[in-house]
Amino acid sequence: MSSEPQHHLSALTLDSLQMGALPPEEERQARAHLAQCPACAERLTETASSAEHFSKVVQPRTLEQLRERMQRPAPWLSRPGVRWGLAVLAGVLAALGGWAVFR
Ligand SMILES: [Zn+2]
Repeated sequence: MSSEPQHHLSALTLDSLQMGALPPEEERQARAHLAQCPACAERLTETASSAEHFSKVVQPRTLEQLRERMQRPAPWLSRPGVRWGLAVLAGVLAALGGWAVFR
């Protein structure tokens, strides 16, 4: 028979503990649980590792790629055929607008 507690800490509790966002009494209970539950202690370590990986690797890499992507025009817009099509469409709309005004 295992001596592990029946109710483990939720992901929300672990995340909140990681961020220092638990009220003092809940933090005390969570830390008491962690002291006797290797499974939750391991999950907390994984949470901390994931959070560190995200903030140090994923976030900077992704933000940089998003900035680059936002500064480039959309690929479909840079095709010559699309540009001609838009120019023709603008001309047709202008002609229709003029026709509607002067008829
Ligand atoms: Zn647990």
